[in-house]
Amino acid sequence: MPCAICVLHPGAHSFVQLEAKVDHIPVYYTCPAQASEYWDGTGIVSHMRNVLADHGFPPQWIWKFDAQGFTVLHALEFGVAMDLLALFRSEDVGQRLHSVIIVNGNGYLRAMLTLLQPLMSSALWDKIHFE
Ligand SMILES: [Zn+2]
Repeated sequence: MPCAICVLHPGAHSFVQLEAKVDHIPVYYTCPAQASEYWDGTGIVSHMRNVLADHGFPPQWIWKFDAQGFTVLHALEFGVAMDLLALFRSEDVGQRLHSVIIVNGNGYLRAMLTLLQPLMSSALWDKIHFE
């Protein structure tokens, strides 16, 4: 089922499956700077759920997070971060997250991660890698 918000506003959210897999695990790509509604935590989580549900909730998945263009505006979206952390605590999506690969990581992203670390399980924290 396509995301209703993206149907009305193409490019509102950024979360698509890439062609290439890593060790047979599907990889999903997000670049917040390419999403016009990067502040819409509820919509973002719903969009991610929709995409993963369309793929039958893969037993494992990798999240490639592209911080190209990630600015203080994105780093200040703690509501989005909280919604994502809640998603990552869920059985059907979060527990199946294999790893988070951050590309083009910059100071804003690192600062945000440092602030969020106390709110993450060590299991989740250990899944986050910079490429
Ligand atoms: Zn969407």
